[in-house]
Amino acid sequence: MKRTGFGFEIVAQEGGARVARLSTPHGVVETPAFMPVATFGAVRGVSPDELAGLGAQILLANTYHLHERPGEEVVAGLGGLHGFTGWRGPWLTDSGGFQITSLGDRVTVSEQGVSFSSPLDGKRRDLSPEKAIAVQEALGPDFAVALDECGPARLVGEDEDGARRRASAALERTLRWAERCRRAHRRGDQALFGILQGGIDESLRRRSARETAALGFDAYAHGGLGLGEESALREAMVAAATRELPASAPRYLMGIGRPEDLLAAIAIGTDLFDCVLPTRNGRHGNLFTRRGVLHVRNARYRSDPRPIEEGCDCPACIRHSRAYIRHLLHGGESLGARLASLHNLRFTLRLLEDARRAIAERRFASFCSEVRAGLDEGPR
Ligand SMILES: [Zn+2]
Repeated sequence: MKRTGFGFEIVAQEGGARVARLSTPHGVVETPAFMPVATFGAVRGVSPDELAGLGAQILLANTYHLHERPGEEVVAGLGGLHGFTGWRGPWLTDSGGFQITSLGDRVTVSEQGVSFSSPLDGKRRDLSPEKAIAVQEALGPDFAVALDECGPARLVGEDEDGARRRASAALERTLRWAERCRRAHRRGDQALFGILQGGIDESLRRRSARETAALGFDAYAHGGLGLGEESALREAMVAAATRELPASAPRYLMGIGRPEDLLAAIAIGTDLFDCVLPTRNGRHGNLFTRRGVLHVRNARYRSDPRPIEEGCDCPACIRHSRAYIRHLLHGGESLGARLASLHNLRFTLRLLEDARRAIAERRFASFCSEVRAGLDEGPR
């Protein structure tokens, strides 16, 4: 990356998997890295100090939500995301396109951009590629993402040819928008991700990667995945696109958070991830462990004195029992959701720490087999 304050140095490799140092103006991120999701500028119920303690290195915020409330001018006036939120480490914002297209009937997409009626006040809003960049330049993250047209792989009642034609049209529009985003982007202290589309068609994914890379971005994100497709299919799409991307640029798979899916994507050369799963699952009492998901609300944990997971160094496991966390969640006590989120975040961040170490020691393949075997066993 040629931007001021940025770098991407690969320090270890095993097959497709790689460990790298991603330098930013706000610190170094060791990849593969997981980015906790701070939609409105906060990871729900978890403070910046706690995130640092859990080993988080970089956070993701949502462009669309911050544009709606409090507005990028407010964030910019308070020192951008770093000053406004108190998280002084690196930030990434998504383009907002995904959240807008998920508004369904409220959205119309044209060559100019996306137009939608705001769920906040019903008023019409427009987001063009240029506007998406302007909002992100004002928010001031270390990484911005180009606006893309993102849709479901298959609509209800749609046949394969129809889905492919739609994916192809979205890909072509995304390429035209990518070019506009690149031209609009001015900040030298902010790196820009190009975003890949192509639905669930390998040749389209390859083409999207080839042509987006030809435009020349600092880094690349696989978009339009993690929408319910089968893991094997998603991995085939990521692998096909990755072969067309420059090895010297970071690669980001959006919206993936299950342990087995993270490891599979790391194995094919993915460097960055984000997902709401750790916090969302935590709030529902579904806790990640190396032996699969532990549903702590179950009656069997009513008097269980053990931590969620033996050997976990998170604040929930160091101090509290399954019985207590279950009790808090059943009582609707907010501490229960917080402790569960802290555990799930630490689990995910620690999984990636272990993955980085395994790659550096060239034992990543056996590490993945061990983790998969453990996950299949089920919690005790
Ligand atoms: Zn824990």
